[in-house]
Order: sequence, then structure tokens, then C-alpha cells
Amino acid sequence: MKVRVRFAPSPTGGLHLGGVRTVLYNYLFARANKGEFILRIEDTDQTRFVEGAEQYIMDCLAWCGLEPDESPLKGGPFAPYRQSERKEMYHHYAQMLLDSGHAYYAFDTPEEIEKMRKDHRKDEYTNAQYDQNTRVLMRNSLTLGQEETARLISEGTPYVVRIKMPEHTTVKLTDMIRGEISFDSSLVDDKVLLKADGMPTYHLAVVVDDYLMEITHAFRGEEWLPSAPVHVLLWEYLGWKDRMPQWAHLPLILKPDGNGKLSKRDGDRLGFPVFAMNWTDPKTNEETRGFREMGFMPQAFVNMLAMLGWNDGTAQELFSMEELIAKFSIERVHKGGAKFDFEKAKWFNHQYIQKTDNETLAELAWPFIVEGGVVTNKELLVKVVGLIKDRCTLLPDFWEQGHFFFETPELREKGAILEKWNDQKQQFFTTWAAELASAATWNQADMETSFNEHATKHGLKKGELMLPFRIMLVGGKYGPGVFAIAELIGKEETLKRINQALEQLLPNQL
Ligand code: GLU
Repeated sequence: MKVRVRFAPSPTGGLHLGGVRTVLYNYLFARANKGEFILRIEDTDQTRFVEGAEQYIMDCLAWCGLEPDESPLKGGPFAPYRQSERKEMYHHYAQMLLDSGHAYYAFDTPEEIEKMRKDHRKDEYTNAQYDQNTRVLMRNSLTLGQEETARLISEGTPYVVRIKMPEHTTVKLTDMIRGEISFDSSLVDDKVLLKADGMPTYHLAVVVDDYLMEITHAFRGEEWLPSAPVHVLLWEYLGWKDRMPQWAHLPLILKPDGNGKLSKRDGDRLGFPVFAMNWTDPKTNEETRGFREMGFMPQAFVNMLAMLGWNDGTAQELFSMEELIAKFSIERVHKGGAKFDFEKAKWFNHQYIQKTDNETLAELAWPFIVEGGVVTNKELLVKVVGLIKDRCTLLPDFWEQGHFFFETPELREKGAILEKWNDQKQQFFTTWAAELASAATWNQADMETSFNEHATKHGLKKGELMLPFRIMLVGGKYGPGVFAIAELIGKEETLKRINQALEQLLPNQL
């Protein structure tokens, strides 16, 4: 059977990096097995639906280079790929479960359910569930009988359909990561399968669609493990047990201190992104920053995610997409949660910046540095990028580290020159600038030679002149080789900066 995997997000907001990791593992598995990767939008919960979230998810996947083979946008042989558009299909399967006695109608109002939860709770902390112990006390087809049930339905009484969990049955599941897992069915509640609005819940829809879409392997977050027995039973009750996908419940991505699941709030609190891309909540207009906008390269982001919970058994950390496809295996995914480490994420990005050619880097950095309208020369940017990339970790760093190539900087660290400034140095720069003005060549090697010779003539050491020269050109004590900077900004600009600085440094201004 052809391998078919799916990412099945609910369009409820920003895409958490854990979600992107699920996409990635799906994608790698599909590619390695010459299979297909499907994007299915699970939008049956109308109360949680958020405008724009579906498009946002697709944009995130495109940014990461993890494009699905079938999706609501692309279509495919199993369309539609949005559960809300498949609404009618689920009724048929709910009916099958009702007919075989594995599901029942329930007419309880929210208030009645609330009351039951409180009245029958075993301790003050945990409310009672709607399960085999309490269903007998409620208004459902099991307690009301066939006739009354038919009457209520014909009168239009709102109802839901619930699964009837079996008593004291051990439900078994073989997970690709965790191995054999057993659940005691009596601890699981009678989950709603079909809601009063006619929409299926996730539990029914996920089983029906995984079956109809011929999904062979289902990878999802560990938080779904408690629901797994319900799903296994539904596969069995619908008569599809031999077609059930192989499950893999992926470990959580944890807060940096390892204490619980990493949430958007942790990102806000600790100053790092948790979503793949910027997300603006359409209701509150609140914007949450994403990895993309913070200046991560998608390849670095993806590589970092691959390593959050997996390794190939060696110390290798940098993998191209081709290598990941060749080496990734679900069985090697760790059982335990993976701590998120933002410094490590930045390390990956730094590594990818070093590996990327200057033309591509300039393209990537461009959106982050054109904002002020100062950078208009892409050719220059390519050269600049090559000079400063070893100092850059995130894409906006190219502006921080290289703005002075495009604009005359302020002499921010003038104080550092003034500390050791004297007439002799003033003389040196004045005369050397004049010499430079008439130089026949303009390259860093010749410039350095002339600088050294000139220093000797003035009885000065090169070392005491380099820092002032750097600050004159850059405004601060940072940047790549100072002669390389001068070569790139050109003769006119170099002289302008030296002369401007000298004016500010004149002894009478000391
Ligand atoms: N719609 C579920 C979610 O948003 C999908 C879980 C699954 O992959 O089965 O997490």
C-alpha cells in the first residue's frame, strides 16, 4: 500500500513550532517512502474557527518548503480536504455506530451535564465524566428507550451522538515511538461523536477521514494519546481495524527549563518566537512574532526542529533536507519531551548563514534592511554580506553589522578615540587622507601598505591608529577588516568620513 500521511491542523490561530515539527516528520516520512503528504483542515469546531488561520498555515508550510501533495488549495483525488465541506459524509458513519449499538443519542442540556459532573464527582478537584458510571443517570437513548428517543428526535429536540465505551476492556495500540500501549476503557468517557449542530467532533472525523483518505501512518502530538483508545475502538467498530494507520505520538516540545509544554506565553515572557511566522489575531489585532520575521532562515528553522526530539545516533546536527529524508526514522524519535533552547536555535541559523552563498543571503537579508530606504544597491549588498556574515546570527543582524556600508554613521564611539587623541595622530590622519586622495589605486592591500608606511613616518604604531580609523568609518568598535570596509565604501566616502571625524576631533574641541 502506498504510504500516505497527513498533517491535520485545526485553523484556530498561529502555527506553533511543535506543529511545524509534526509537519516536518510527516513530510520526511512521506518523501523517504515515496509516499504522499496530505494537508487536511480540521475545522469542525465552529466555535474555535479563526478567519485567516488556514491560509496562514499554508503560508507557513510554503515558507518552510514543506509543501503538501494534496491540500484544500491543491486539491487531489480525496477532495474536499476541509472537514467542514465533508459534513454530510460523517452522518452515515455515525448512523452505522448507532445501528451497531456502539453509539447512542444523548439529549442532556449543558446544565444537566454540569449538574451531573458536580453531583457525582469523587473528590473536590475532579468533576465526574459522562461515562459508563453516569450515563445510566442521564437522558439518552440507553435510558429513555427506543420510542421516547424517536419521539424526541421527531420533535426536533437537540441531541448529540456519543460513543458507548465498553466496560473493563483493555484497548491496545502499537505506537511507532512508544511501542505497546494499553488503556483501560472504563477510565475513558463516552466522547461526543456528532454534535448538536450536525458537525462531527474531531474524534469521529479523524477516523473517518483517515480511512477515506487511505492514510497509512498518523503522526500527531502526544497530547492526543488519551484519545487514542476512542479512535482505536472506532476503527474496530466501523469494521476497518485492518486499515488502521500506524500511530506515532510525538513528544512534547518543552519550556527551556523542562517544566511543561512550551506555550506562546513562554515565548512572550522569555522574548523568543513560538510561532513559525507572525500571526495577527483577527479578533484582538494582537500580533505575535514568528521565526520568519525574527530573521530565521527556513532551512535552519527546519533543521533545528528535526533535532528537537530526534538524532541519527551520531553527534551530527546539521542536515540538509536530502540528508534528513535519507536518515530520518520515526523509530528514533525520543519518547521524552524535548526542551526548547533559543540559543541553540540561533546557533543553527548562524551555521546556515555561513553555509549560504552571498547572492542568496543578500536576497534573504534584503527585506530586513531596505526598510529605511538606504540600501538600494544589491551588488554592494552581496559584497557586504560576504564580509560580515560570520558576525551575523539572525537576518536583521546584516543591518546592525553592515549599515555603515550604506550610510555615513554617527561617530557614536568618538569618546574612545578622544581618550588617546593627540596632535600627532591628528597630523597622521590629515596627511594620510591627502595621500589617499591622490592614490592611483583603491584596494585594501595598497591602502594598508600606505597606512603602515605613513605610520612609521610619523613615528606611530599601526596598532594605536587602527581603532580611531575604524571608529571614523564605522562609528563604533565593530565590523570586518577596516581596509576592506574602506575599499568597499570607496574613496570619496572614506575621505569624507575621515575628514568629518577630524573636524570633530580637532584639539580645540577636546
Ligand atoms: N486537529 C488535530 C489538531 O489540531 C489533529 C490531531 C491529529 O493529527 O490527529 O491537533
